[in-house]
This record gives sequence, C-alpha cells and structure tokens, in this order.
Amino acid sequence: MPRHIVCLTFDFDTQSGFIARGMTTPTPLSRGEFGLTGARRILDLLQANGIRSTWFIPGFTIESHPAACAAVVEKGHEVAHHSWAHVPPANQSRAEEEADLMRANTAIERLTGKKARGYRSPSWDLSDSTIGLLIAHGFLYDSSLMGADYWPYRARRGDRAELGKPFVRGEETALIEMPISWSLDDYPHFEFVRTPTTVLPGLQSARVMMENWLDEFRYMKRHVDWGILTYTMHPFVIGRGYRMLALEDLVEKLAAESAVFMTMEDAAREARERMGI
Ligand SMILES: [Zn+2]
Repeated sequence: MPRHIVCLTFDFDTQSGFIARGMTTPTPLSRGEFGLTGARRILDLLQANGIRSTWFIPGFTIESHPAACAAVVEKGHEVAHHSWAHVPPANQSRAEEEADLMRANTAIERLTGKKARGYRSPSWDLSDSTIGLLIAHGFLYDSSLMGADYWPYRARRGDRAELGKPFVRGEETALIEMPISWSLDDYPHFEFVRTPTTVLPGLQSARVMMENWLDEFRYMKRHVDWGILTYTMHPFVIGRGYRMLALEDLVEKLAAESAVFMTMEDAAREARERMGI
C-alpha cells in the first residue's frame, strides 16, 4: 500500500530571530510578535482539520510567551528543539552550542514534561559539533539538512570538504535526518528583509507558492511508494490572512490527495523502523 506522509512544521521564532541578528528596535520586534496572532490562527486551522503538527520552539519563545506555547501543547502538537536564542550553531563554539542546547531542552521539559526528540537549527546551518551533540543528548532526529527530498536518511558526522580535494563522507549515525529545503519554507518566498548588505524581496503570491508545494507532493506520490514531505512555516509569516487562506486550500488539497499528516517524531519513528535501525 503506497503511503505518502506530510509533516507540517512551524518554527515559532517570535522575536528571537530578529534579536539574534541585532534587530532590536520596536518595528522588527513587533514583526516577530505578530507570530502570536499567527500561531492562534494556525492552531485553529489544524484543529478544524484534525491535523497534528510539529512546532520547533526556541527556549526564548517558551520563556517569553508561555501561554502561547502552552496552547500548542494543549492542542496535541509536538514541541521540538530550535535552540534557545536562535543563534546558528555554525556561529558558536562547541561549548556555547551545548550550553544553549541544554538551556532550551530544560525549557521544553518544563513546558511538555519531556525533553525534545527532534532538533532544527536556527537558519539551517549546523556546526561540525551538532550531530555529535544531538546524539549525546538523546535526540531521535534532526531536521536541518537538504541531502534528500522524500526519504529520511542517517545523519553523518565527520564529512570532510576541502578546496581542491575530493569530498570524503563521514560516518553514518543512528540519528534520523528529516530533510528540508528553502523551496519548501515560507520565509524566503514571503518575507521582505532589508539589511545593510542584502535585500530579500519576498512578497510572492501565496497561491502560486502553494501550487508549487502541492506539485512537490504530487511528484512524490507519482514516483515513490513511501515518502515524507516536510513543509516549514513561521507563524509570523504564514499568519497573514491571505496566506492563511492559501494554506487552508493546500491542506484541503493534500487531504484530497490522500496525504497522511503526522508529527515529525512519529514520521521519524516510522522511517527508523523502515531503515531497520
Ligand atoms: Zn527559526
């Protein structure tokens, strides 16, 4: 029996990403605060469709907006790890990365009663230490890499990439990688961001983007018997009214195409069983 799984995932950053980039004036902070409104809308949409999803919540958001995070838990969604301060591990020393990882896990344990089973790095940039730290701290899966589209794989550590030398694959681990893609992330499609060095234009048509996202599912359905497709969204981004309508439409069309909606933890467990790990 073919089985096509969809993981709807929400990175509940609120203000953390702006603060991590030094954008602490009132307007960028308010932009992150809008995520609280977006989260309420998303929770209502998921409940109306009987869908469980995964929320990657920084410790910052848990400690700054406890009621909004409690609502995610009450509605039966998975809470996963997304750092404490939303600083990409690639910008941290190993000790800094581990301290942040443990601090966020303590916040998650207070919120949900258990430590996170899954991890997604801020801005999708792991350090050389990350995979080892996730294994040491008992994680089941990571969701930060882009080496596949429809099938999870074993995360590796110790890959070696040097200019002028062939690539050397590192050791495969038991950590399940649940791959992602910027093409399936709402942020670059929608957000207008201006910094001193770059402009992200964003502001694309929500309907067109959702059409692309649906085609990604249709392609998976046509070409593999079993697969997992992960969509990544941010409440402060997808929570605008016209984008919510487009998301509602996507969810209905995916359901009509027999998508099986699962939390990432459940999907990772199913993947692990299939891999015989
Ligand atoms: Zn994030």
